[in-house]
Amino acid sequence: MTLHALGLNTTQHNSSMNVRLPTHAPLPVKHTSLAWDNHFYRLGPDFYTALAPSALPAPYWVGRSQAVAKQLGLTAEEDETDTLLQALAGNQPISGTQPLASVYSGHQFGQWAGQLGDGRACLLGEANGLEVQLKGSGLTPYSRMGDGRAVLRSSIREFLCSEAMHGLGIATTRALCVVGSDEDVARESLETAAVVTRVAPSFIRFGHFEHFAARNQLSQLKTLANYVISRYYPACQTARTLNANPYANLLLQVTERTAVMLAHWQAVGFCHGVMNTDNMSILGLTIDYGPFQFLDAYDPGHICNHTDRGGRYAFARQPDIAHWNLYALAQALMPLIEDQALALQALDSYKPSFERHWQQLMLAKLGLSDAAKRDGLENQPVTDDASLLTDLLSLLAQDRVDYTIFWRRLSHAVASQQLEPVRDLFLDRPAFDAWQTRYAERLSAFDPARAAALMLASNPKYVLRNYLGELAIEAAKGKDFSGVADLLMLLERPFDEHPEHEAKAGFPPEWASRIEISCSS
Ligand code: AMP
Ligand code: MG
Repeated sequence: MTLHALGLNTTQHNSSMNVRLPTHAPLPVKHTSLAWDNHFYRLGPDFYTALAPSALPAPYWVGRSQAVAKQLGLTAEEDETDTLLQALAGNQPISGTQPLASVYSGHQFGQWAGQLGDGRACLLGEANGLEVQLKGSGLTPYSRMGDGRAVLRSSIREFLCSEAMHGLGIATTRALCVVGSDEDVARESLETAAVVTRVAPSFIRFGHFEHFAARNQLSQLKTLANYVISRYYPACQTARTLNANPYANLLLQVTERTAVMLAHWQAVGFCHGVMNTDNMSILGLTIDYGPFQFLDAYDPGHICNHTDRGGRYAFARQPDIAHWNLYALAQALMPLIEDQALALQALDSYKPSFERHWQQLMLAKLGLSDAAKRDGLENQPVTDDASLLTDLLSLLAQDRVDYTIFWRRLSHAVASQQLEPVRDLFLDRPAFDAWQTRYAERLSAFDPARAAALMLASNPKYVLRNYLGELAIEAAKGKDFSGVADLLMLLERPFDEHPEHEAKAGFPPEWASRIEISCSS
């Protein structure tokens, strides 16, 4: 199907129904010291529709990240102004920005979905080398059946999880703030609107490439690939690997970053929930937080997205799904790579790379890492760390042990030599004891203090459990935003002790397992 057939000719949109500015549009103001640039805009109208965000009545701050403000170069005073609030709500144009909604396509739940695009997002431009995008900022030509809005609930979840992932050392888009409004938004029930300001070096997705490949728009495909290479993967221009083919090298680099990201997700127990190709970042960033979940009980088959009936995106399937998505990207890049063997070679690097990174992360969680080796121990015993790990994961799954609490307690047990709190987590104590004997033997090659320090820095005390998010959201609906601020503070430093917030590191309440998060956001 062509863009014309869908009535979505982007060029046409740019010229005739350009922007929905209100009749008395406010003039753009230069209200911050930010110097704006617009590289993506300069790609030209084949890649987007230029349009301003829709106005959001009577906005108020819901949450703000000072760390992201600082990264952008906003001063503390600028970060709090009403002008900035109005600008990030979509009510006040910012001089120097060139707002736009980009067009992409993608595979959703394994099926080709055709044209998608920023249906409720608006890229303002970039500041300090970071793109700034409003999510929930109103209708665009790509809104399809949607209303262009995002609700407070999902916006708080995205804001907190972006910063939580960053705090965990996992590549992610960031979030500057959430702005709320009392404007009604209809979902299963009536909710209120909010806008998240997202920040990333780029919001380009696998789906951007699929879009032009599917339409056989090869010159646009090449423009996009060259743009991504020159801005984000310059080494691909001169790489000698893969016959010095820059596009195959791009695929190789994206494959590597995706493998690293997946290794981190699996190690920390993060379920994304909607790994469609339009939700896969070309930079290997975790992007588009929807029905995500950090595991409570360890369950490899866990499905966090209530809409995902078949469990395509179940926790343990995520690494394979990412590989599937990389195949879709490779398919889109084929007209540029031109050599199937090279593309396959790039894709084949995924599994070994994922395995290597995942093992490294998991062994660090166990304290079994070179960084913790005992000094002067020359001849290491021959061990099978892989089976130690997989046997442990089987035990955790069998007894549905709380994933985060297990690792944190194990870290403290190695520090204190007190094993009871870990043993208490298991139903099958003899099985745990047998595993623990093997673990203790292996651990004897390591310095206990160093191993414990490594473990405490590898096993977070705080993750954004669904129920914690729900409590903060419920309070925020009543205009109490302190829960959002408290969680942000914890999740920015999830490996630290925060004695005043001990309860948030405990077991989830019984009702947590009944929370249902769907694609509705
Ligand atoms: P997601 O599954 O959230 O990544 O969204 C898939 C597609 O639907 C993207 O193109 C989104 O921009 C679009 N979309 C999701 N929610 C809305 C909405 N409320 N209004 C308009 N477009 C939306
Ligand atoms: Mg998306």
